[in-house]
Amino acid sequence: MRSTMMPVQLSTNQILDRAGAYFGEQTVLGRLPDKSTYRRSYREIHRRARQLAQALRDKAGIGRGEAVATMSWNHAWHLECYFGIPAAGAVLHTLNLRLSPEDIAYIMDDAEDRVLIVDDVLLPVWERVSPLLKKGQPRVIVVPFGGGALPAGSENYEAFIAGDASGYVYPEQDENEAVGMCYTSGTTGRPKGVVYSHRSMVLHAITGCIPDLFALSARDQVMMVTPMFHANAWAVPFSAMMVGAGQILPGPHLGGEDLLDLMEEGGTTMALGVPTIWMMVWQSLSNPTRERKLVKGMRMLVGGAAVPTSMIANFASHDMHIVQGWGMTETSPLGSVPVLKPAHQALPDTDRHALRAMQGIATPFVEMRIVDEAEGLQPWDGKSSGEVQVRGPWVTGAYHATPNDPAKFTADGWLRTGDIGTIDPEGYMRLVDRSKDMIKSGGEWISSVELENLVMGHPAVAEAAVVAIGHPKWGERPLVVAVKRPGGEVDGAALRAFLAPKLARFQLPDDYEFVEAIPKTATGKFLKTRMREMYRERVSQSA
Ligand code: ADP
Repeated sequence: MRSTMMPVQLSTNQILDRAGAYFGEQTVLGRLPDKSTYRRSYREIHRRARQLAQALRDKAGIGRGEAVATMSWNHAWHLECYFGIPAAGAVLHTLNLRLSPEDIAYIMDDAEDRVLIVDDVLLPVWERVSPLLKKGQPRVIVVPFGGGALPAGSENYEAFIAGDASGYVYPEQDENEAVGMCYTSGTTGRPKGVVYSHRSMVLHAITGCIPDLFALSARDQVMMVTPMFHANAWAVPFSAMMVGAGQILPGPHLGGEDLLDLMEEGGTTMALGVPTIWMMVWQSLSNPTRERKLVKGMRMLVGGAAVPTSMIANFASHDMHIVQGWGMTETSPLGSVPVLKPAHQALPDTDRHALRAMQGIATPFVEMRIVDEAEGLQPWDGKSSGEVQVRGPWVTGAYHATPNDPAKFTADGWLRTGDIGTIDPEGYMRLVDRSKDMIKSGGEWISSVELENLVMGHPAVAEAAVVAIGHPKWGERPLVVAVKRPGGEVDGAALRAFLAPKLARFQLPDDYEFVEAIPKTATGKFLKTRMREMYRERVSQSA
Protein backbone atom coordinates (compact mmCIF):
# COMPACT_ATOMS: atom_id res chain seq x y z
CA MET A 1 0.00 0.00 0.00
CA ARG A 2 1.30 3.48 -0.78
CA SER A 3 0.98 6.21 1.79
CA THR A 4 -1.44 9.04 1.20
CA MET A 5 0.90 11.69 2.53
CA MET A 6 1.94 14.67 0.43
CA PRO A 7 5.40 14.27 -1.09
CA VAL A 8 6.59 17.61 0.30
CA GLN A 9 10.39 17.83 0.20
CA LEU A 10 12.10 18.88 3.43
CA SER A 11 14.02 22.13 3.07
CA THR A 12 15.71 24.73 5.24
CA ASN A 13 13.60 27.28 3.32
CA GLN A 14 10.59 26.04 5.30
CA ILE A 15 12.46 26.86 8.51
CA LEU A 16 13.31 30.35 7.25
CA ASP A 17 9.71 31.04 6.23
CA ARG A 18 8.33 29.76 9.52
CA ALA A 19 10.63 32.09 11.47
CA GLY A 20 9.60 35.01 9.27
CA ALA A 21 5.87 34.26 9.48
CA TYR A 22 5.45 33.38 13.14
CA PHE A 23 8.46 34.72 15.02
CA GLY A 24 9.19 37.98 13.23
CA GLU A 25 9.60 39.84 16.53
CA GLN A 26 12.19 37.39 17.84
CA THR A 27 15.76 38.67 17.63
CA VAL A 28 19.41 38.02 17.22
CA LEU A 29 21.44 39.86 19.84
CA GLY A 30 25.01 40.22 18.66
CA ARG A 31 28.27 41.84 19.58
CA LEU A 32 30.30 43.88 17.10
CA PRO A 33 34.11 44.00 16.99
CA ASP A 34 34.09 47.25 19.04
CA LYS A 35 32.09 45.33 21.70
CA SER A 36 28.90 47.33 21.23
CA THR A 37 25.75 45.22 20.80
CA TYR A 38 23.04 45.23 18.15
CA ARG A 39 19.73 43.47 17.57
CA ARG A 40 18.24 42.20 14.33
CA SER A 41 14.75 40.72 14.17
CA TYR A 42 13.84 37.43 12.53
CA ARG A 43 11.58 39.45 10.23
CA GLU A 44 14.68 41.28 8.97
CA ILE A 45 16.75 38.09 8.81
CA HIS A 46 13.99 36.47 6.75
CA ARG A 47 13.80 39.42 4.36
CA ARG A 48 17.55 39.87 4.02
CA ALA A 49 18.27 36.12 3.59
CA ARG A 50 15.85 36.11 0.65
CA GLN A 51 17.51 39.23 -0.76
CA LEU A 52 20.86 37.45 -0.51
CA ALA A 53 19.41 34.42 -2.33
CA GLN A 54 18.04 36.59 -5.11
CA ALA A 55 21.33 38.48 -5.47
CA LEU A 56 23.34 35.25 -5.60
CA ARG A 57 21.09 34.01 -8.38
CA ASP A 58 20.71 37.23 -10.39
CA LYS A 59 23.92 39.18 -9.72
CA ALA A 60 26.42 36.36 -9.20
CA GLY A 61 24.78 33.78 -11.44
CA ILE A 62 24.95 31.11 -8.76
CA GLY A 63 23.07 27.99 -9.67
CA ARG A 64 21.78 24.97 -7.81
CA GLY A 65 24.44 22.91 -6.08
CA GLU A 66 27.24 25.48 -6.39
CA ALA A 67 29.30 26.29 -3.30
CA VAL A 68 29.27 29.73 -1.67
CA ALA A 69 31.82 30.10 1.11
CA THR A 70 31.65 32.16 4.30
CA MET A 71 34.62 33.31 6.37
CA SER A 72 32.89 34.86 9.32
CA TRP A 73 32.50 35.10 13.06
CA ASN A 74 29.15 34.34 14.69
CA HIS A 75 26.85 37.23 13.78
CA ALA A 76 23.52 38.12 12.18
CA TRP A 77 25.00 38.40 8.66
CA HIS A 78 26.38 34.87 9.00
CA LEU A 79 22.92 33.69 10.06
CA GLU A 80 21.52 35.30 6.91
CA CYS A 81 24.07 33.30 4.91
CA TYR A 82 22.99 30.11 6.71
CA PHE A 83 19.57 30.55 5.13
CA GLY A 84 20.16 32.81 2.13
CA ILE A 85 22.77 30.61 0.45
CA PRO A 86 20.57 27.46 0.56
CA ALA A 87 17.58 29.61 -0.44
CA ALA A 88 19.44 30.28 -3.71
CA GLY A 89 19.69 26.50 -4.19
CA ALA A 90 23.40 26.84 -3.42
CA VAL A 91 25.61 25.13 -0.83
CA LEU A 92 26.64 26.95 2.35
CA HIS A 93 30.36 26.28 2.80
CA THR A 94 31.57 27.59 6.16
CA LEU A 95 35.36 28.05 6.26
CA ASN A 96 37.28 27.50 9.48
CA LEU A 97 39.15 30.79 9.78
CA ARG A 98 41.62 29.30 12.26
CA LEU A 99 43.18 26.92 9.73
CA SER A 100 46.42 27.72 7.91
CA PRO A 101 46.09 29.69 4.63
CA GLU A 102 47.34 26.58 2.78
CA ASP A 103 44.54 24.43 4.21
CA ILE A 104 41.88 27.07 3.56
CA ALA A 105 43.07 27.43 -0.05
CA TYR A 106 43.05 23.66 -0.53
CA ILE A 107 39.52 23.46 0.89
CA MET A 108 38.21 26.29 -1.30
CA ASP A 109 39.68 24.66 -4.40
CA ASP A 110 38.23 21.29 -3.43
CA ALA A 111 34.75 22.75 -2.89
CA GLU A 112 35.07 24.96 -5.99
CA ASP A 113 33.68 27.96 -4.12
CA ARG A 114 32.28 30.45 -6.63
CA VAL A 115 31.55 33.25 -4.16
CA LEU A 116 33.18 34.11 -0.84
CA ILE A 117 31.34 36.16 1.78
CA VAL A 118 33.99 37.44 4.20
CA ASP A 119 34.01 39.73 7.24
CA ASP A 120 35.87 43.01 6.72
CA VAL A 121 37.84 42.22 9.88
CA LEU A 122 38.96 38.90 8.35
CA LEU A 123 40.23 40.34 5.07
CA PRO A 124 43.85 39.93 6.28
CA VAL A 125 43.21 36.15 6.49
CA TRP A 126 41.67 36.11 3.02
CA GLU A 127 44.59 38.07 1.57
CA ARG A 128 46.93 35.26 2.59
CA VAL A 129 44.63 32.59 1.12
CA SER A 130 43.81 34.19 -2.21
CA PRO A 131 47.28 33.90 -3.87
CA LEU A 132 47.35 30.16 -2.99
CA LEU A 133 44.16 29.25 -4.88
CA LYS A 134 44.76 27.06 -7.91
CA LYS A 135 41.29 26.84 -9.45
CA GLY A 136 40.53 30.53 -9.92
CA GLN A 137 39.28 33.30 -7.66
CA PRO A 138 35.76 33.51 -6.21
CA ARG A 139 33.69 36.69 -6.35
CA VAL A 140 34.36 38.33 -2.98
CA ILE A 141 31.60 40.05 -1.02
CA VAL A 142 32.62 41.85 2.15
CA VAL A 143 30.44 42.04 5.27
CA PRO A 144 30.77 45.44 6.97
CA PHE A 145 30.93 43.78 10.40
CA GLY A 146 33.73 46.03 11.73
CA GLY A 147 31.81 49.10 10.60
CA GLY A 148 34.76 51.00 9.06
CA ALA A 149 35.21 51.92 5.40
CA LEU A 150 35.80 48.92 3.16
CA PRO A 151 39.02 48.78 1.14
CA ALA A 152 38.73 50.39 -2.30
CA GLY A 153 37.33 48.08 -4.94
CA SER A 154 35.62 45.69 -2.52
CA GLU A 155 32.01 44.72 -3.01
CA ASN A 156 29.88 45.57 0.03
CA TYR A 157 27.46 42.88 1.20
CA GLU A 158 24.81 45.52 1.89
CA ALA A 159 24.97 46.85 -1.67
CA PHE A 160 25.05 43.31 -3.04
CA ILE A 161 21.82 42.25 -1.30
CA ALA A 162 20.00 45.57 -1.89
CA GLY A 163 16.71 45.22 -3.75
CA ASP A 164 13.19 43.93 -3.33
CA ALA A 165 13.03 40.16 -2.97
CA SER A 166 9.42 39.93 -1.75
CA GLY A 167 8.53 38.03 -4.93
CA TYR A 168 11.54 35.72 -4.82
CA VAL A 169 10.63 32.08 -5.46
CA TYR A 170 12.85 29.32 -4.07
CA PRO A 171 14.16 26.85 -6.63
CA GLU A 172 12.38 23.51 -6.49
CA GLN A 173 14.72 21.01 -4.94
CA ASP A 174 14.83 17.40 -3.95
CA GLU A 175 15.43 17.04 -0.21
CA ASN A 176 18.56 15.01 -0.86
CA GLU A 177 20.29 17.90 -2.63
CA ALA A 178 23.18 19.56 -0.83
CA VAL A 179 22.45 22.37 1.62
CA GLY A 180 25.86 22.90 3.19
CA MET A 181 29.35 21.56 3.65
CA CYS A 182 32.09 21.49 6.28
CA TYR A 183 35.61 20.11 6.13
CA THR A 184 37.15 17.81 8.71
CA SER A 185 40.85 17.70 9.40
CA GLY A 186 42.35 14.33 8.56
CA THR A 187 45.10 12.57 10.53
CA THR A 188 47.09 12.35 7.34
CA GLY A 189 46.40 13.92 4.01
CA ARG A 190 44.20 16.88 3.35
CA PRO A 191 40.91 17.94 4.98
CA LYS A 192 37.86 16.17 3.59
CA GLY A 193 34.48 17.66 2.76
CA VAL A 194 31.26 16.49 4.41
CA VAL A 195 28.17 17.54 2.45
CA TYR A 196 24.83 17.83 4.27
CA SER A 197 21.46 17.57 2.54
CA HIS A 198 18.28 19.58 3.15
CA ARG A 199 16.78 16.37 4.49
CA SER A 200 19.62 15.58 6.90
CA MET A 201 19.78 19.17 8.15
CA VAL A 202 16.04 19.41 8.79
CA LEU A 203 15.79 16.02 10.52
CA HIS A 204 18.82 16.88 12.65
CA ALA A 205 17.35 20.29 13.53
CA ILE A 206 14.08 18.72 14.66
CA THR A 207 15.80 16.05 16.73
CA GLY A 208 18.07 18.63 18.35
CA CYS A 209 15.00 20.26 19.91
CA ILE A 210 13.87 17.24 21.94
CA PRO A 211 13.90 17.78 25.70
CA ASP A 212 16.87 15.50 26.35
CA LEU A 213 19.00 17.34 23.80
CA PHE A 214 18.72 21.14 23.45
CA ALA A 215 15.11 21.27 24.72
CA LEU A 216 14.61 24.33 22.54
CA SER A 217 11.38 26.28 22.49
CA ALA A 218 10.08 29.70 21.44
CA ARG A 219 10.79 30.87 25.00
CA ASP A 220 14.52 30.23 24.79
CA GLN A 221 17.44 32.56 24.15
CA VAL A 222 20.37 30.52 22.86
CA MET A 223 23.91 31.77 23.03
CA MET A 224 26.06 30.22 20.35
CA VAL A 225 29.70 30.29 21.34
CA THR A 226 30.42 27.30 19.12
CA PRO A 227 31.77 28.84 15.92
CA MET A 228 29.31 28.82 13.05
CA PHE A 229 32.16 27.34 10.98
CA HIS A 230 32.22 24.20 13.16
CA ALA A 231 29.72 21.54 12.13
CA ASN A 232 26.98 24.15 11.49
CA ALA A 233 27.28 25.40 15.08
CA TRP A 234 25.82 22.00 15.95
CA ALA A 235 22.90 22.95 13.67
CA VAL A 236 21.41 25.09 16.43
CA PRO A 237 20.86 28.08 14.09
CA PHE A 238 18.40 25.85 12.21
CA SER A 239 16.78 24.43 15.36
CA ALA A 240 16.42 27.88 16.93
CA MET A 241 14.86 29.48 13.84
CA MET A 242 12.52 26.51 13.46
CA VAL A 243 11.04 26.83 16.96
CA GLY A 244 11.41 30.60 17.21
CA ALA A 245 14.07 30.69 19.92
CA GLY A 246 16.19 33.87 19.98
CA GLN A 247 19.91 33.72 19.23
CA ILE A 248 22.81 35.44 20.92
CA LEU A 249 25.94 35.68 18.77
CA PRO A 250 29.14 36.86 20.47
CA GLY A 251 31.18 37.79 17.36
CA PRO A 252 34.91 37.55 18.05
CA HIS A 253 34.66 38.20 21.81
CA LEU A 254 35.04 34.84 23.51
CA GLY A 255 36.56 35.77 26.88
CA GLY A 256 34.80 34.73 30.10
CA GLU A 257 33.73 38.24 31.19
CA ASP A 258 32.50 39.22 27.72
CA LEU A 259 30.45 36.06 27.44
CA LEU A 260 28.93 36.51 30.89
CA ASP A 261 28.02 40.13 30.10
CA LEU A 262 26.29 39.06 26.91
CA MET A 263 24.58 36.14 28.63
CA GLU A 264 23.10 38.55 31.12
CA GLU A 265 22.07 41.14 28.53
CA GLY A 266 20.31 38.54 26.40
CA GLY A 267 18.66 36.58 29.23
CA THR A 268 20.38 33.42 27.99
CA THR A 269 18.55 30.20 28.83
CA MET A 270 20.74 27.85 26.81
CA ALA A 271 24.34 28.12 25.61
CA LEU A 272 26.70 25.96 23.62
CA GLY A 273 30.44 25.68 23.28
CA VAL A 274 33.51 23.51 23.77
CA PRO A 275 34.87 22.81 27.30
CA THR A 276 37.69 25.37 26.90
CA ILE A 277 35.13 28.17 26.62
CA TRP A 278 33.32 27.07 29.77
CA MET A 279 36.64 26.80 31.59
CA MET A 280 37.13 30.53 30.94
CA VAL A 281 33.56 31.34 31.91
CA TRP A 282 34.03 29.35 35.10
CA GLN A 283 37.17 31.33 36.00
CA SER A 284 35.20 34.56 35.71
CA LEU A 285 32.22 33.16 37.61
CA SER A 286 34.32 31.84 40.47
CA ASN A 287 36.25 35.14 40.84
CA PRO A 288 33.34 37.50 40.41
CA THR A 289 34.03 41.16 39.69
CA ARG A 290 30.36 41.78 40.43
CA GLU A 291 27.18 39.86 41.09
CA ARG A 292 25.83 38.16 37.97
CA LYS A 293 22.14 38.01 37.12
CA LEU A 294 21.97 34.89 35.02
CA VAL A 295 18.73 33.11 34.23
CA LYS A 296 18.03 30.47 36.88
CA GLY A 297 18.44 26.89 35.72
CA MET A 298 20.09 27.73 32.41
CA ARG A 299 21.33 24.81 30.28
CA MET A 300 24.62 24.44 28.47
CA LEU A 301 25.35 21.98 25.71
CA VAL A 302 29.05 21.23 25.90
CA GLY A 303 30.83 18.97 23.44
CA GLY A 304 33.58 18.64 20.88
CA ALA A 305 35.93 17.33 23.58
CA ALA A 306 35.56 15.44 26.86
CA VAL A 307 33.76 17.36 29.60
CA PRO A 308 35.34 16.90 33.05
CA THR A 309 33.00 15.76 35.83
CA SER A 310 34.32 18.64 37.97
CA MET A 311 33.10 21.14 35.36
CA ILE A 312 29.62 19.63 35.43
CA ALA A 313 29.57 19.77 39.25
CA ASN A 314 30.97 23.33 39.42
CA PHE A 315 28.37 24.78 37.11
CA ALA A 316 25.58 22.80 38.77
CA SER A 317 26.48 24.59 42.01
CA HIS A 318 25.58 27.83 40.15
CA ASP A 319 22.30 26.34 38.90
CA MET A 320 23.80 26.00 35.40
CA HIS A 321 23.24 22.57 33.92
CA ILE A 322 25.63 20.97 31.47
CA VAL A 323 24.40 18.49 28.91
CA GLN A 324 27.30 16.84 27.18
CA GLY A 325 27.06 15.97 23.50
CA TRP A 326 29.32 13.71 21.51
CA GLY A 327 29.55 14.05 17.77
CA MET A 328 31.63 14.91 14.76
CA THR A 329 31.49 17.03 11.63
CA GLU A 330 30.66 13.72 9.91
CA THR A 331 27.60 13.24 12.16
CA SER A 332 26.10 16.75 11.66
CA PRO A 333 27.16 16.57 14.65
CA LEU A 334 24.62 15.12 17.15
CA GLY A 335 25.62 11.50 17.82
CA SER A 336 24.98 10.82 21.49
CA VAL A 337 24.08 12.43 24.77
CA PRO A 338 23.89 11.07 28.34
CA VAL A 339 20.13 11.12 28.87
CA LEU A 340 19.12 10.77 32.53
CA LYS A 341 16.49 8.06 33.02
CA PRO A 342 13.96 8.08 35.90
CA ALA A 343 16.11 5.79 38.06
CA HIS A 344 19.02 8.23 37.78
CA GLN A 345 17.00 11.07 39.24
CA ALA A 346 17.26 9.49 42.69
CA LEU A 347 21.05 9.15 42.55
CA PRO A 348 23.32 11.39 44.63
CA ASP A 349 24.63 14.46 42.77
CA THR A 350 28.12 13.01 42.34
CA ASP A 351 26.75 9.92 40.56
CA ARG A 352 24.54 12.02 38.32
CA HIS A 353 27.43 14.30 37.42
CA ALA A 354 29.56 11.24 36.61
CA LEU A 355 26.80 9.98 34.33
CA ARG A 356 26.62 13.35 32.62
CA ALA A 357 30.36 13.08 31.95
CA MET A 358 29.80 9.97 29.80
CA GLN A 359 29.25 10.41 26.08
CA GLY A 360 25.84 8.76 26.46
CA ILE A 361 23.22 7.00 24.40
CA ALA A 362 22.76 7.42 20.67
CA THR A 363 20.37 10.16 19.58
CA PRO A 364 17.11 9.03 17.91
CA PHE A 365 17.73 7.55 14.43
CA VAL A 366 21.48 7.16 15.03
CA GLU A 367 22.73 3.61 15.57
CA MET A 368 25.94 3.04 17.50
CA ARG A 369 28.17 0.01 18.02
CA ILE A 370 31.69 -0.72 19.18
CA VAL A 371 33.94 -2.96 17.15
CA ASP A 372 37.34 -4.36 18.04
CA GLU A 373 39.64 -4.81 15.08
CA ALA A 374 40.58 -8.36 16.06
CA GLU A 375 37.52 -9.55 18.00
CA GLY A 376 34.70 -7.89 16.07
CA LEU A 377 31.48 -6.57 17.59
CA GLN A 378 31.82 -5.91 21.33
CA PRO A 379 29.17 -6.56 24.01
CA TRP A 380 27.46 -3.81 26.02
CA ASP A 381 29.23 -4.70 29.28
CA GLY A 382 30.84 -1.36 30.11
CA LYS A 383 34.28 -3.01 29.93
CA SER A 384 34.96 -4.31 26.42
CA SER A 385 36.25 -1.53 24.24
CA GLY A 386 36.43 -0.97 20.52
CA GLU A 387 36.05 1.65 17.85
CA VAL A 388 32.80 3.58 18.01
CA GLN A 389 30.94 3.16 14.70
CA VAL A 390 27.72 4.93 13.77
CA ARG A 391 25.19 5.21 11.01
CA GLY A 392 22.10 7.31 10.56
CA PRO A 393 20.25 9.79 8.34
CA TRP A 394 22.60 12.66 9.27
CA VAL A 395 25.82 10.62 9.28
CA THR A 396 27.96 11.02 6.18
CA GLY A 397 28.45 7.94 4.01
CA ALA A 398 31.32 9.38 1.96
CA TYR A 399 33.52 12.45 1.50
CA HIS A 400 33.18 15.09 -1.20
CA ALA A 401 35.29 14.48 -4.30
CA THR A 402 37.26 11.72 -2.57
CA PRO A 403 37.24 8.03 -3.45
CA ASN A 404 35.65 5.98 -0.73
CA ASP A 405 38.14 5.39 2.04
CA PRO A 406 37.98 1.97 3.72
CA ALA A 407 39.74 3.46 6.73
CA LYS A 408 36.67 5.66 7.31
CA PHE A 409 33.74 3.41 6.33
CA THR A 410 33.14 -0.28 7.03
CA ALA A 411 32.17 -2.72 4.30
CA ASP A 412 28.64 -2.85 5.76
CA GLY A 413 28.24 0.92 5.61
CA TRP A 414 29.02 2.34 9.06
CA LEU A 415 31.18 5.39 9.74
CA ARG A 416 34.41 4.59 11.58
CA THR A 417 34.75 7.46 14.05
CA GLY A 418 38.34 6.85 15.19
CA ASP A 419 37.11 7.14 18.78
CA ILE A 420 37.55 4.19 21.13
CA GLY A 421 34.80 3.54 23.65
CA THR A 422 32.85 1.13 25.83
CA ILE A 423 29.07 0.77 26.04
CA ASP A 424 27.47 -0.26 29.34
CA PRO A 425 24.44 -2.58 29.71
CA GLU A 426 22.08 0.42 29.61
CA GLY A 427 23.59 1.67 26.36
CA TYR A 428 25.76 4.52 27.70
CA MET A 429 28.90 5.00 25.67
CA ARG A 430 32.10 6.22 27.30
CA LEU A 431 35.12 7.30 25.29
CA VAL A 432 38.35 5.79 26.56
CA ASP A 433 40.84 6.61 23.81
CA ARG A 434 41.26 7.76 20.25
CA SER A 435 42.66 5.70 17.41
CA LYS A 436 42.98 8.72 15.14
CA ASP A 437 46.32 10.34 15.76
CA MET A 438 45.06 13.81 16.54
CA ILE A 439 45.20 16.31 19.37
CA LYS A 440 42.19 18.45 20.18
CA SER A 441 43.21 21.81 21.63
CA GLY A 442 40.50 24.29 22.54
CA GLY A 443 38.12 22.50 20.18
CA GLU A 444 40.47 22.66 17.17
CA TRP A 445 42.42 19.75 15.72
CA ILE A 446 46.16 19.41 15.50
CA SER A 447 47.49 16.48 13.47
CA SER A 448 50.28 14.58 15.26
CA VAL A 449 51.49 13.12 12.00
CA GLU A 450 51.80 16.52 10.34
CA LEU A 451 53.75 17.88 13.33
CA GLU A 452 56.03 14.83 13.34
CA ASN A 453 56.85 15.35 9.66
CA LEU A 454 57.63 19.01 10.23
CA VAL A 455 59.82 18.35 13.28
CA MET A 456 61.71 15.62 11.43
CA GLY A 457 62.45 18.21 8.73
CA HIS A 458 64.84 19.91 11.20
CA PRO A 459 68.42 18.98 10.32
CA ALA A 460 69.40 18.14 13.92
CA VAL A 461 66.41 15.82 14.57
CA ALA A 462 66.71 12.09 13.86
CA GLU A 463 63.11 11.24 14.68
CA ALA A 464 60.15 12.66 16.54
CA ALA A 465 56.74 11.58 17.78
CA VAL A 466 53.94 13.83 19.01
CA VAL A 467 51.34 12.92 21.63
CA ALA A 468 48.62 14.82 23.46
CA ILE A 469 49.22 15.93 27.05
CA GLY A 470 46.75 17.64 29.36
CA HIS A 471 46.24 21.38 29.74
CA PRO A 472 43.86 23.04 32.24
CA LYS A 473 42.43 25.49 29.68
CA TRP A 474 42.93 23.97 26.24
CA GLY A 475 42.12 20.37 27.23
CA GLU A 476 45.00 18.93 25.23
CA ARG A 477 48.26 20.29 23.82
CA PRO A 478 50.92 18.58 21.70
CA LEU A 479 54.12 17.26 23.30
CA VAL A 480 57.00 16.81 20.86
CA VAL A 481 59.25 13.90 21.81
CA ALA A 482 62.41 14.04 19.71
CA VAL A 483 65.67 12.16 19.27
CA LYS A 484 68.67 14.24 18.18
CA ARG A 485 70.96 13.18 15.36
CA PRO A 486 74.47 12.26 16.55
CA GLY A 487 76.23 15.60 17.08
CA GLY A 488 72.94 17.49 16.42
CA GLU A 489 72.48 20.72 18.38
CA VAL A 490 68.88 21.70 19.02
CA ASP A 491 66.60 22.55 21.92
CA GLY A 492 62.90 23.26 22.44
CA ALA A 493 63.19 26.98 21.72
CA ALA A 494 65.06 26.35 18.45
CA LEU A 495 62.49 23.76 17.34
CA ARG A 496 59.63 26.08 18.21
CA ALA A 497 61.19 28.90 16.15
CA PHE A 498 61.73 26.44 13.27
CA LEU A 499 58.06 25.36 13.33
CA ALA A 500 56.47 28.79 13.91
CA PRO A 501 56.29 29.98 10.28
CA LYS A 502 54.85 26.65 9.12
CA LEU A 503 51.86 26.38 11.47
CA ALA A 504 48.72 28.18 12.58
CA ARG A 505 49.37 29.73 16.00
CA PHE A 506 47.22 27.30 17.98
CA GLN A 507 49.04 24.37 16.34
CA LEU A 508 52.51 25.46 17.46
CA PRO A 509 53.78 23.18 20.28
CA ASP A 510 55.15 24.71 23.48
CA ASP A 511 56.29 21.42 25.03
CA TYR A 512 59.39 19.50 23.95
CA GLU A 513 61.17 16.49 25.35
CA PHE A 514 64.47 15.08 24.06
CA VAL A 515 64.99 11.34 24.54
CA GLU A 516 67.46 8.63 23.55
CA ALA A 517 64.85 6.53 21.75
CA ILE A 518 61.11 6.52 21.00
CA PRO A 519 59.19 3.33 21.87
CA LYS A 520 58.14 1.42 18.75
CA THR A 521 55.88 -1.45 17.73
CA ALA A 522 57.25 -4.64 16.22
CA THR A 523 56.69 -3.17 12.77
CA GLY A 524 58.61 -0.01 13.65
CA LYS A 525 55.66 2.38 14.15
CA PHE A 526 55.68 4.76 17.11
CA LEU A 527 54.01 3.08 20.07
CA LYS A 528 51.61 5.91 20.86
CA THR A 529 49.64 4.01 23.50
CA ARG A 530 52.85 3.46 25.46
CA MET A 531 53.90 7.09 24.99
CA ARG A 532 50.53 8.42 26.15
CA GLU A 533 51.00 6.24 29.24
CA MET A 534 54.54 7.61 29.83
CA TYR A 535 53.41 11.23 29.68
CA ARG A 536 49.98 10.81 31.29
CA GLU A 537 50.83 13.02 34.29
CA ARG A 538 52.59 15.72 32.29
CA VAL A 539 50.85 19.08 32.14
CA SER A 540 51.48 21.39 29.19
CA GLN A 541 53.35 24.66 29.76
CA SER A 542 51.34 26.49 27.07
CA ALA A 543 49.98 29.89 28.03
P1 ADP B 1 33.44 19.34 15.95
O1 ADP B 1 33.67 20.36 14.88
O2 ADP B 1 32.01 19.19 16.36
O3 ADP B 1 34.38 19.47 17.11
P2 ADP B 1 35.07 17.29 14.80
O4 ADP B 1 34.67 16.40 13.70
O5 ADP B 1 36.12 18.31 14.57
O6 ADP B 1 33.73 17.95 15.28
O7 ADP B 1 35.52 16.44 16.06
C1 ADP B 1 34.86 15.26 16.45
C2 ADP B 1 35.69 14.52 17.48
O8 ADP B 1 35.81 15.30 18.66
C3 ADP B 1 35.10 13.21 17.93
O9 ADP B 1 35.37 12.16 17.04
C4 ADP B 1 35.79 13.03 19.28
O10 ADP B 1 37.12 12.56 19.12
C5 ADP B 1 35.86 14.45 19.80
N1 ADP B 1 34.67 14.71 20.63
C6 ADP B 1 33.52 15.31 20.25
N2 ADP B 1 32.65 15.37 21.27
C7 ADP B 1 33.25 14.79 22.33
C8 ADP B 1 32.86 14.53 23.69
N3 ADP B 1 31.68 14.91 24.17
N4 ADP B 1 33.75 13.89 24.47
C9 ADP B 1 34.96 13.51 24.02
N5 ADP B 1 35.38 13.73 22.76
C10 ADP B 1 34.55 14.36 21.92
